Amino acid sequence: MSCGACVNECPVAALEDTVERKHGKPDSYVRTTCAFCGVGCQFDAGVKGGKLVSMIPVAESPVNQGHSCVKGRFASAYVHHKDRLTVPLVRDSIEEEFREASWDEVYGLISSKWKDLIGSQGPDSLGIITSSRSTNELNYLGAKLMRAVVGTNNVDNCARVCHSATVKGMMTVFGAGAGTNSLNDIDETDLLLVSGCNPIHGHPVTGSRIVRARKRGMRMIVADPKRTELAKIADIHLQLRPGTNVALYQGLAHIILRENLQASDEWMSSRTENLEPFKEMVKLMTPELCSELTTIPIETLESAAKLYAEVDAAMSVHGLGMTEHSHGSEGVMALSSLALLTGNVGRLGTGINPLRGQNNVQGSCDMGALPNVYTNYQSADDPQVRQKFAKAWNVEVPTKPGMTYPAMLESVSEGGLKSLYMIGSDIAHTDPNNLQVIEALSNLELLIVQDIFFCESAKYAHIVLPAASFLESDGTYTNGERRIQRIRKAIDAPGQAKQDWIIVKELAEALGHPIAFSEDCSDVWDELAALTPNFVGISYDRLEDVEAIQWPAPTAEHPGTPVMHQDQFSRGLGHFAAPEFSEPNETASDDYPFILVTGRNLYHYNAATQTRRSGLVEFRESDYLEINPEDAENLGIQDNSEVWLSSPRNKIKMLAKHNDDVRIGNLFTTFHFPEVGVNTVISSSSDGYTRCPEYKVQAVAISAV
Ligand code: SF4
Repeated sequence: MSCGACVNECPVAALEDTVERKHGKPDSYVRTTCAFCGVGCQFDAGVKGGKLVSMIPVAESPVNQGHSCVKGRFASAYVHHKDRLTVPLVRDSIEEEFREASWDEVYGLISSKWKDLIGSQGPDSLGIITSSRSTNELNYLGAKLMRAVVGTNNVDNCARVCHSATVKGMMTVFGAGAGTNSLNDIDETDLLLVSGCNPIHGHPVTGSRIVRARKRGMRMIVADPKRTELAKIADIHLQLRPGTNVALYQGLAHIILRENLQASDEWMSSRTENLEPFKEMVKLMTPELCSELTTIPIETLESAAKLYAEVDAAMSVHGLGMTEHSHGSEGVMALSSLALLTGNVGRLGTGINPLRGQNNVQGSCDMGALPNVYTNYQSADDPQVRQKFAKAWNVEVPTKPGMTYPAMLESVSEGGLKSLYMIGSDIAHTDPNNLQVIEALSNLELLIVQDIFFCESAKYAHIVLPAASFLESDGTYTNGERRIQRIRKAIDAPGQAKQDWIIVKELAEALGHPIAFSEDCSDVWDELAALTPNFVGISYDRLEDVEAIQWPAPTAEHPGTPVMHQDQFSRGLGHFAAPEFSEPNETASDDYPFILVTGRNLYHYNAATQTRRSGLVEFRESDYLEINPEDAENLGIQDNSEVWLSSPRNKIKMLAKHNDDVRIGNLFTTFHFPEVGVNTVISSSSDGYTRCPEYKVQAVAISAV
């Protein structure tokens, strides 16, 4: 998969890194953390004459153990792309052209408009979307800017549209929304349950680790509508109908209880609650009904349930195929309850482990960049929490509940939100029902977009702020196993671009209310850690080590926590959740007979703002619609031919490819390329608890062009 390991391993130096060959060997190396996916691989960035020339994976990192993927090793070259934003841009209306401006001018314009809006419309007319791609320090300060300076809880981040349902689901069952175990546990477990994720593409270093564990004899069950690379090498592939996760995991629980394969009575009485209502609910999900709903044969369900329950240690990893549903939170509750039922949590090689799509999904949520919580999920409804932050920040903090960002966008047409500050996310490309998102952005009185490139959302902005990339910044990211790792500045940012957290700091000063008190972001980390019981023992200095620390670490002596919930759950007892199965909001109809599932591809990352500006675009230059050859034949659609993809929202033209890994009746595509416009077809339907969009179940029609 072109990960570059062959260059490292070649014994006769016949293979060379092409970038290094072009620019020469680095003068120096700076240790940092990959800014693509949530695996959090460590790299030594090789620098020569102020330019990045190589990314060498760190052998002693417990996360990647010297391994890398093609993105981490080669795609970071985007930092030198000619399209980088280098100067602040401003215009009075979105019909006008941008002009260049100084930092002082843009800070002045923002603070004067915001003060007007706060005075005339109230603080809730403002909102912020911070970034799961930027640092913990940025996310903390972004939330602090809104709560301490503006006076609103309208704080959200782009994890809203990926793993918010994981947080809700795992919080309900365990009392904490974070991955319970460590990636190292893949090397220890007896069985891996892989649900709704394709780590070979989305989290390649973890994907390789899973393949390695399989070779040592680890058993594996894959639950996915698509026959993924891991499904092909699994013991059992549960090829479920999209949108039936709750039915699947309750069906497996039914069989486990029927066969008396659940954990001991002692476990149930000492560690869990709500078992009886759970039993009542799963009793209804007979293998026959489960099979009818999921389309998985009864004998396959029986085999999977017994295999999962009979091993000593079963570990679960899951992705957005679990969360991006109208019942995503309930799906995660059902999966987590299955682990609780079999005692597969709180031990090495067990647990529920969400694979985070973006590098700092875990951290952006941990930092309280959410409307309902402060750092590490301290409730914004709790007067004691509010009092603690108000005292530390020396301000009054807001009491009115904040809006999620989909709710913020909806409120624009009702005269609610007037100004949005968007940092490192590109919702005009990545969000569902894209044309509606663009309409909301176009109707704001002041849209501020802070990014490293002129992204799709910047087209609707009044002010664009040039940001530094991860290689030009200091700070921390938290990976999917709760490991808080350093990034370190290796090169200078281009032109006048500044680090994200510095821009927020300076904007607060322009508003007359400083929120960060030095030029050193370690002070920001130490401030937030002191306000957060699970981080109190984690000073910035302790993060220097390549091992870093996995939270919780409540004291300076605490070594960190590779396995959570060992003696008790974060909420005390593990709570069996018993949601009732409901059909997805989106269902196939005569007009829209196919179910479209969207996902990602190895060579690109999310909006692909970065990877489209790297050499990886040569491997994948567009989004394709994958269709089962049987469906294609029925519709007269040739392989590699153009098709119309339509929904009630929009109709787009794209290239279709035959792929018999796709389930009959389903379609699969990525959404990395804005010019294709896949998200204009997707509906606004979302998870009832969290507003996480239903990207994985979309009723569509397809026809040959
Ligand atoms: Fe970066 Fe993820 Fe690849 Fe590791 S697996 S190198 S974190 S993109």
